[in-house]
This record gives sequence, C-alpha cells and structure tokens, in this order.
Amino acid sequence: MSQPEINTLESYNNLALEIISNLIEIKALSPENGGYGEIDKAEYILSLLDFTDEIERFDAEDGRAKKGIRPNIVARIKGERQRTLWIVCHMDVVPEGDLKLWESNPFKAEVVDDRVYGRGAEDNGQAIVSTILAGKFLSEQNPELSFGMIFVSDEETGSRFGIQHLLKEKKFSRDDLFLVPDTGSPDGSLIEIAEKNILWLKLEIFGKQGHASRPDMFYNASRRAMKILLELDEILHSRFSAENSLFDPPHSTFEPTKREKNVDNPNTIPGLDVSYFDCRVLPSYTNDEVIELVRKFLDEKQSEDGFECRMEVIQNESSPPTSEDSEIVLRLKKALRTLRGIEAKPVGIGGNTCASFFRKAGYETAVWSTLDGKAHEPNEYARISNIIEDAKVFAMLALSA
Ligand SMILES: [Zn+2]
Repeated sequence: MSQPEINTLESYNNLALEIISNLIEIKALSPENGGYGEIDKAEYILSLLDFTDEIERFDAEDGRAKKGIRPNIVARIKGERQRTLWIVCHMDVVPEGDLKLWESNPFKAEVVDDRVYGRGAEDNGQAIVSTILAGKFLSEQNPELSFGMIFVSDEETGSRFGIQHLLKEKKFSRDDLFLVPDTGSPDGSLIEIAEKNILWLKLEIFGKQGHASRPDMFYNASRRAMKILLELDEILHSRFSAENSLFDPPHSTFEPTKREKNVDNPNTIPGLDVSYFDCRVLPSYTNDEVIELVRKFLDEKQSEDGFECRMEVIQNESSPPTSEDSEIVLRLKKALRTLRGIEAKPVGIGGNTCASFFRKAGYETAVWSTLDGKAHEPNEYARISNIIEDAKVFAMLALSA
C-alpha cells in the first residue's frame, strides 16, 4: 500500500468535523451519572455504518436506561483473511463537571481552528470518528486483515453493561488483534501494553477506648496503627522492590491513603483506627503475594499484644501484559514509522483501562492514540488533524503486514 492512497483519508476532513460535532451533541451519560444511556448515540453511529459487511448487536438490559438497553455494536469489514483487527471505542461520556469552568456549552460543538471543543470530544469521540473513517476507507480497499469496529457502552462506570457483557456474549478468535484508542500522547509515540496490578487494602487496627488521661488503663489504637502502618510501608517497599523501566515510576507503589475519622473529641483515646493502602504492583508480582505478606505481618502484630488487626481487600485487579513483540505492537510501530517517521515506545501505566478486560480474556491488546490528554477536563477538545492521522494508522494496521 503506497502512502498517497492512504492520504485520500485527508479528503474526509469535513466529514470528520460533522461526525464529531454530532457525537458531542448527543449526551450519552450512564444512569449512574444521571443520564439515560447510550442508545441515541448508538443509533446515530449505526446510521453511518452502511459501508460494513456485518453488523451485530450485543445489547445489555438495563431498566434504568432509555429503551431499557445499553447498546454494544460490533461491525466488520471483510478482508483477505478472517483474522480481524478490532478497534474498541466507547460511546458514553462523563458529566461536564463545573459548568463555570467551561468557555463554551459542553454539549454543543465549538470549533476553533483545528480543535473541536465539547464533552467527549477526546474521550472517546475522536476514536469513534477515526474508526468510522478508517472503516469507510478500507471498505473500498482490499485489506489483508478484516477490520472490526466495536462501540461499547458503560466504559466510564465499570464496563459491566459494555465490554464485560460483550466478552461474555461474543466469541472473538484468539488470533484477533485489539487496539483500544482511549489514552495516548500528543505525538502518538507511546503504546501502552501493560498495567500495574491494583490492590486496595482496608486495615482495621484495634485498641481500647477510654479517657485520654489514663493511657495506663486503655490502648491507643491510633498510636498503634501509626507504628504498624509505617513498618508495613517499609516492609512492602523492601520485599517488592523490583524495577521495570516500562513503567513510570519503574517500581511498585504502596501508599497509605485514606484514614477514617475516629473519636469526636481530643480527650478520648481512640479504640479503633481504620486506614487504607493503595498498592500498584508490578506485574512480575501477584496481588496474592502482597495480600499474604500483609496478612502474616498483621497476625504477628496481633499475637504480640493480643489486640485485633483486620484486613479487607477492597479492590483487586490485574491483567497480563501484552508482549512488546506481539503482532499488534509490531504492526503499530511499523505503521508509525511509515506514516510519521517516529519510533514508538511501549509503556506501562499505573492505572486501569478497559484493555485489561481483553488482556484478562487472553487477547493481545494495545492502547494507543494521538491526543493532548484533555479527557474529563473542562474545555475538553479533539484535534481534527489527530482524527485524520489516527484513521490513517488504523487503516494501515489492517492493510498489510
Ligand atoms: Zn475513555
């Protein structure tokens, strides 16, 4: 495939502007965020997909949403091979937040030069438009890979009615490739292939409550907890000290975060301290190893003075990394070299994206796009040039190896 041909995507400029503007104006908020769901946006997207070979619906039932459903659309253009490159986009957006911080109506597209402002412009409208444009272009070519377009609901509020539902209902091939264009960098040089494991622990350290003038008769849970937490902090950092330069920071992090309020008055010795740890663990360790260490440590503390130390796991998420040598990553790097002359770098992140659901299900998944990073902010925008340039990359990924 020669580059001049792929450059015909530039003629879709006005179409890109029209679609992104329409998407911004259809407010697709999940019921948790006070909205009626994604059905109107899904119907608009469906009206644009007349160039595809197959369209399937995997709607999830949700009585709170308009028409009682949370739509999930899977469309495909057949290539020479059955093997499919899937681009995964989400239709829902987050609320506008504080309206006073916006310089325009968040649900009305405002165009300033290359930028289109509005809630959901970048997250994830840009990806929806790039995917549709790439699909439209590929339907007139004869791509090597089949090109799949996935538009899901409920990404911002847990994916239960979106990706998780889809992965239960739809059988993808182990051989398929997945790209989630939901985070990225301004020049498109970062490909996210791994996420740290996330583990949230709630620790309850007990003592004996009583008058502050009689520490000889009571046991201060707050003082006890401070010592225990600091010791645990050190033990976790030294036991799980591996480094991996894919990530920034390159090590696991263990942060004591929330502390629940204890007694109401300054002259009472608290009898219970409740604190939390946010742990982001390199994938070379398992969360179970961390949990076991903490449990053993707390058991020791408990046996020292006979007062209880409890632990509860609040959040426990992990997904296997996608290999740097996986086909989706190699194809992406090649496309970026050809189209942009850049050497893209695989990276890991400390957060949790919807790519983890695909990785957990055993599919090679990369997270990539070109954006300024305005998701969830006031005055969110997308650049039309990024929409077009990312569409070229999506198309090239499917065209040939
Ligand atoms: Zn998003």
